[in-house]
Amino acid sequence: VKKSVSIIGGGPSAMILAAFLDTKKFDVHIYEKNKALGRKFLVAGKGGFNLTHAEEIISMKQKYSPKGFLDLALDNFDNTSLRQWLDAIGIPSFIGTSHRVFPVKGIKPIDVLTKIKNLIEQKNVSIYYGHEWDSSIYKGIKFKNGQSLDSDYIIFALGGASWKITGSSADWTQYFQKHKVDLKPFMPSNCAYQIKWPSTFIKQYEGEPLKNITLSVGNITQKGEVVVTQFGVEGNAVYACSPEIRTQLNAKNIATVAIDLKPHLSKDQIISKFQNSKSKNTTQILREVIKLSKLKIGLLKHFITKDQFLDTNVLIDHIKSFELVITDFAPIDEAISTVGGIALSEVDDHFQLRKLPNHFCIGEMLDWDAPTGGYLLQACFSMGVWLAKYMNEHL
Ligand SMILES: Cc1cc2nc3c(=O)[nH]c(=O)nc-3n(C[C@H](O)[C@H](O)[C@H](O)COP(=O)(O)OP(=O)(O)OC[C@H]3O[C@@H](n4cnc5c(N)ncnc54)[C@H](O)[C@@H]3O)c2cc1C
Repeated sequence: VKKSVSIIGGGPSAMILAAFLDTKKFDVHIYEKNKALGRKFLVAGKGGFNLTHAEEIISMKQKYSPKGFLDLALDNFDNTSLRQWLDAIGIPSFIGTSHRVFPVKGIKPIDVLTKIKNLIEQKNVSIYYGHEWDSSIYKGIKFKNGQSLDSDYIIFALGGASWKITGSSADWTQYFQKHKVDLKPFMPSNCAYQIKWPSTFIKQYEGEPLKNITLSVGNITQKGEVVVTQFGVEGNAVYACSPEIRTQLNAKNIATVAIDLKPHLSKDQIISKFQNSKSKNTTQILREVIKLSKLKIGLLKHFITKDQFLDTNVLIDHIKSFELVITDFAPIDEAISTVGGIALSEVDDHFQLRKLPNHFCIGEMLDWDAPTGGYLLQACFSMGVWLAKYMNEHL
């Protein structure tokens, strides 16, 4: 007799788990509260849609925190394995700028979703829509439509706490609290942060990107882009600094970040460029010799005094380390991902809940963090495949 596996939640973690489970051994069921699978996956596809990130596995592992939590799953199914698998099911991908991996031109997010869905349907996985699990009932598994579930194995793949409209509403905590599973508060990650820009500055520069910069905060330094918005800042360099910005905001209600506006030149190199310049006009030197963009010069002019601007030494200190004060997170619902949820200490090496044997949690509902650029989906995929392998071989 086959054993039954019931997966609650129908995002990418759930889908890849179902795709890799041995359906000769298990009866596999997915219960999703929406009328469709993978709504957040489709939202992710509206922006960059980075399926994973192309880089050496050693450096890839460094992107995940807490360090080491994903190592076994990544060693089993890494960025190369993911690309090979996608290729095999008809989703060829390419490595774009900054090593992000995208589906090739012409393949839309809905096509990726459909290919994976077709695959699991061919494997006779049953998918039930409109099945919202009621987490307030903690004896057994019940859905809000009155149905209840009797299954050998239960896998929770309920997602994080942002973009509630996609179904990832994080209103499933009660059940785990009742079972004394430690939950960490949900917090935004990979989100915009508030900066109280002077009105004259933001009127002129809203929407413009600071390119070729590095952003430093605490012990993180990140190359990339920072976009100036009405609310504050966003962009890949900002998102990658989320763990440290969050730590500072939680501790002090503000976070101080430093931007190197000219990371490819040292302070001494900039000084000698100033000294060798024929022009005596500071703005002209910044623009034509140091090659700072209008926005970078605008930042300096709006935030430092005229005396500081005209003192080459002080000016260059600000070019190499331009400090901005962050005063808040963007609302959690707008974040690309969230941290918090089930504490990692509550699951074993195969994501099985220590307090609830035969119950597992995978994906963003666990308390881990990673930057954008494909790392989030890679983690969800690696977790799903790792759990499938364990179940296929051991249960
Ligand atoms: C704007 C945006 C852009 C992004 N871009 C990228 C990107 O380019 N690259 C990348 O790697 N990642 C990206 N992400 C992140 C990525 O989409 C998520 O990390 C990923 O979808 C998480 O997968 P998951 O399976 O853990 O959960 P989810 O995808 O959140 O799926 C959880 C599912 O569980 C269902 N569910 C919840 N509660 C219940 C319940 N009580 N009963 C039944 N079902 C329930 C939900 O309806 C949902 O379908 C992006 C996210 C956003 C919001």
